Amino acid sequence: MSTYVDEGVVLRRVDYGEADRILTVLTRQHGKIGVIAKAVRRSGSHLASHSDLFARSTMQIARGRGELDVLVQAQRAGPVPPAGDARRAACAALCAELADRVLEGGHPLDEGLYELVAAALEECADSSRDPRAAVAWFARRMIDRLGYAPELRNCAGCSRVLDEVPAHFSAAGGGLLCDACAAADPGAVPCPVRVIKVLRVMEAEDAGLYARLRLDAPTLEVLETVVERELEQHVDRRLRSLGVMRSLWTAGTPGYP
Ligand SMILES: [Zn+2]
Repeated sequence: MSTYVDEGVVLRRVDYGEADRILTVLTRQHGKIGVIAKAVRRSGSHLASHSDLFARSTMQIARGRGELDVLVQAQRAGPVPPAGDARRAACAALCAELADRVLEGGHPLDEGLYELVAAALEECADSSRDPRAAVAWFARRMIDRLGYAPELRNCAGCSRVLDEVPAHFSAAGGGLLCDACAAADPGAVPCPVRVIKVLRVMEAEDAGLYARLRLDAPTLEVLETVVERELEQHVDRRLRSLGVMRSLWTAGTPGYP
């Protein structure tokens, strides 16, 4: 059986048979693949931790005869996934579900995409980072890659240049709307100037500057609503993890910067 080595992160897993798991793994070189991890639910399995959700490992994989390849060996290549913190796990789950939904299996990824997904999952686990900010960044990047970069400088309705004043974000309309055009879209999200500025940092793909921004709770709230509307508009079905994440955030227990 021929084998190959690649680094990958586990996006999804389902138990299979007596003790196996079937993993959906996003790999650096081979894109999204299906892998069977045999006997990983038996105690003492040396592959068990590599079949955890969001685990990042360098994997030796044998080519299978059917759709699934077989995980043979693995070595950890990233931090331990955020087990035990439901909110961080919910944020990571949303990133993983979005990646799984949007990326087609079976062919190599576009440049930088693997790093984007792996970094998002890592930031969700990083106690010095707000996982909601990581989700918003990742979701915006993925929506842009789908070809739906929103119009943020001119009104997406009438093309008028937008001044440095609050505007309305319309996912259906393709970006920010002036007051006059926003009247036609009751679903448009009112955006304060500070949110518009954050959206423009995201548009510029300036990850360093974005990481340094202090996003207060109201700003994050609007940002999340914008991203949520875009996901609903551009990703076919409602993302299951989005509801889970929302319900966890609104359940109380503050504690993130
Ligand atoms: Zn307009």
